[in-house]
Amino acid sequence: MKLHEFQAKELLAQYGVPVPPGKVAYGPEEAERIAKDFGKQVVIKAQVHVGGRGKAGGVKLAQPEEAREVAGKILGMDIKGLTVKKVLVAEAVDIAREYYAGLIIDRSSQRAVLMVSKEGGVDIEEVARTNPEAIVKYPIDPHKGLRHFEAREVVKQAGLEGNLNRLANVIVQLYNAFKGVDASLAEINPLVVTEQGEIIAADAKIDLDDNALFRHPDLAKLREVEAEHPLEIEASNYGFAYVKLDGDVGVIGNGAGLVMYTLDLVNRAGGKPANFLDIGGGAKAEVVYNAVKLVAKDPDVKGIFINIFGGITRADEVAKGVIQALEEGLVKVPVVMRVAGTAEEEAKKLLEGKPIYLYPNSLEAAGAIVTMVGGAK
Ligand code: GDP
Ligand code: MG
Repeated sequence: MKLHEFQAKELLAQYGVPVPPGKVAYGPEEAERIAKDFGKQVVIKAQVHVGGRGKAGGVKLAQPEEAREVAGKILGMDIKGLTVKKVLVAEAVDIAREYYAGLIIDRSSQRAVLMVSKEGGVDIEEVARTNPEAIVKYPIDPHKGLRHFEAREVVKQAGLEGNLNRLANVIVQLYNAFKGVDASLAEINPLVVTEQGEIIAADAKIDLDDNALFRHPDLAKLREVEAEHPLEIEASNYGFAYVKLDGDVGVIGNGAGLVMYTLDLVNRAGGKPANFLDIGGGAKAEVVYNAVKLVAKDPDVKGIFINIFGGITRADEVAKGVIQALEEGLVKVPVVMRVAGTAEEEAKKLLEGKPIYLYPNSLEAAGAIVTMVGGAK
């Protein structure tokens, strides 16, 4: 479960992490009132469950007398498919340096891993891709936790400048928060060193582990269904396992393992999946029809790859559902399919002459759909 920045900052503050004072506003007048109460320059920030708000125009500095206008522009804005319904109005920070500090659960080392970089502020995924050695990674011993001397060593190795003891303090506090709320991710980006040498978390992101929410009833209450992606809400109404992703290839399959594998194939072919959608086992035509309809609705989707391995799911039922969606004109993008297993022959017969590209195996199908959406990225 994702938290908003203002919620993440409130939690971090409880663990001692310094954050700029701020309040949430639901309208431009309220934003102006808050800014005038602060009586100095503020930063007005869209509160939506996606990163990269700055680049999308959802983070802006304003003087108190400009706050109404600036907030008015950000409220109602669409950021990656989400409508901005509230903004955080926070005292602006006087930035000298922007660092990155984050914690995630790493499956391969089966530990929480601390990541620190002096290349903060910008997209950390971009740093990871283009300059991976700029991120120092440190797996944390679950029995000992993160100790101050270890955090200090990591901060030093990463080349951070300023008061290293205080930077290490903040990182230990971040770790305590991560552990305390059972997060799957907690990051501060940017972790700012101000012109005056203070250390402050100018942005924060926390994802909670859904499986541990029962231990935190107060945090579970923070879930806002309306802040989730509209397609994710629709998918959950249908009972699909659906995750919105960043790319342009819609992916539908039966069984989580097959769908994951299909995502990997699309990636390997140089493409980027737009979603994960598992129709589950034994899906009838209507379920498949709903799945195709849902994926085709996503404006990011430039092509759809349907990968079916029939077991209890009958491939002909799948074909019927896909054909119905196509015949109703719901799909405006190319559809690539691979069907195998139960009722494969029946499915192939049904699909004959239909505007669907059928491939004998997943690998070829993945290559084809990536070419159709404009080639490897
Ligand atoms: P994100 O784009 O969603 O990660 O939002 P951030 O809160 O990280 O803001 C993006 C960028 O806006 C930061 O990297 C800063 O450069 C800038 N920014 C955010 N808050 C402040 C602030 O208080 N003062 C100044 N000067 N810049 C800020
Ligand atoms: Mg940020």
